[in-house]
Amino acid sequence: MTTRREFISGIGAMGGAAILGQQAFAQPPVNPADPPAPSPAEMPPERVGEYTLPPLPYASDALEPHIDKLTMEIHHGKHHAGYVKGLNDALKGLADARNSGNFGTVQGLSRQLAFHAGGYFNHLVFWNNMAPAGKGGGGKPAGKLADQITKDFGGHDKFLAHFNAAAAAVEGNGWGVLAWHGALKRLIVLTMMNQQNQMPIGAEPLLMCDVWEHAYYVKYQNRRTDYIAAWWNVVNWKNVEERFDKAM
Ligand code: MN
Repeated sequence: MTTRREFISGIGAMGGAAILGQQAFAQPPVNPADPPAPSPAEMPPERVGEYTLPPLPYASDALEPHIDKLTMEIHHGKHHAGYVKGLNDALKGLADARNSGNFGTVQGLSRQLAFHAGGYFNHLVFWNNMAPAGKGGGGKPAGKLADQITKDFGGHDKFLAHFNAAAAAVEGNGWGVLAWHGALKRLIVLTMMNQQNQMPIGAEPLLMCDVWEHAYYVKYQNRRTDYIAAWWNVVNWKNVEERFDKAM
């Protein structure tokens, strides 16, 4: 049997450099010792439709009076659930595209994936960033996170003023975000639009304030700054510190 090496050197001897260029990209011959390719029926199922709505880490009325029960029920049970469905639908659509080889839908589905994966993940961070006031919620950060806030923002009060201004300034729907950027090696405050835009890759969110109207309109109507001010009473700094330790 002719080995691949002998075959290629044979081409060279024939002056077949152009052919060699093509040959270099061709598939290697199938080795009879390799197991046969699995038939579609034997292939593992694609990971679609597997995401479910995670439960809230506390009762829906636990953040009263700062965030009301009805808002929490709709926000978690309808809005967050909608992002879970959208994420599963986008992944299913992309699996269908791969299986059919028809990628005409890939641009829209990629956008849908970014939006709904954002909505799925952002709310997970948001729920866990909060705890009932006086029972884990409120106060100030401590330890390494407090030191880093002072280092990067010039103190806790300056950070608060900056974050409040950023969250209030989001046009339409979005989030105020405190993130750690591993490559920049600093904390940054960002204004994220919708569920995904204006966030640089590499930024790990530590603290997220949802400023979509669905997060506050039932209780605060148009008074977003009142909502943000009340929200600090339920910020779970312990959780933010844990996220910071992990991100570091
Ligand atoms: Mn939301």
